[in-house]
Amino acid sequence: MGPVTEVFVIAIDGPAGAGKSTIGRALATRLGLEYLDTGAMYRAVTVAAMREGIALDAPDAVAGLARRVVLDVGDGGVVVDGFDATAAIRTTEVNACVSAVAANPDVRSEMVDRQRAWARQRGGGVLEGRDIGSVVFPDAALKVFLTASPLERARRRALESGGDVDEIAASIEARDRMDRERTDGPLTEASGAVIVDTTGRAVEDVLDELTELLEGCR
Ligand code: C5P
Repeated sequence: MGPVTEVFVIAIDGPAGAGKSTIGRALATRLGLEYLDTGAMYRAVTVAAMREGIALDAPDAVAGLARRVVLDVGDGGVVVDGFDATAAIRTTEVNACVSAVAANPDVRSEMVDRQRAWARQRGGGVLEGRDIGSVVFPDAALKVFLTASPLERARRRALESGGDVDEIAASIEARDRMDRERTDGPLTEASGAVIVDTTGRAVEDVLDELTELLEGCR
């Protein structure tokens, strides 16, 4: 399945803790669109593999699982093969393992197909992840690459989930490095993406900037 162009997509990419979920969800609400957290999909596959005892370094087994797993990723939470994985996808263990699962090209191709199908069913939406503007929807109406300083990103995660800021900083740095260095769909500033630094900025202020950018694209 090739890229889809007939849908109205806003693509938000960036490293961990840059504000993608907060901004993506709020922007979708403001514009009356639906929102998809694609990171939750990779996390859900990771949880399913752990629950089934599939070794994460067995690429074919993990890819087979990714193809057959029933995922429901929505505002109400994340359900994986009937199991409510809303809390399980956010554990330290999943944080440490998800990038290895996401580096598997067969897992990616399955998730990309599902993300395109999700948008096609709705005529578009706000999708947030690492490769939305570069791979999933390179022709998106608006492509944004959100960033924030490493310290601010770690602080935000610490506020959300508790824990030591230095440990969280090390964990997100390791994950970002793996995400940037993988061959398939790496974390990158997509061509044509607007880079927006959210450090020290209020959500409403960033939303206003994105809404203005969108007006300029129409
Ligand atoms: O967005 P979040 O931090 O929850 O993403 C978890 C992980 O899922 C990322 O670190 C990355 O390895 C993977 N991911 C990805 N491509 C996406 C979204 C997330 O590889 N589009």
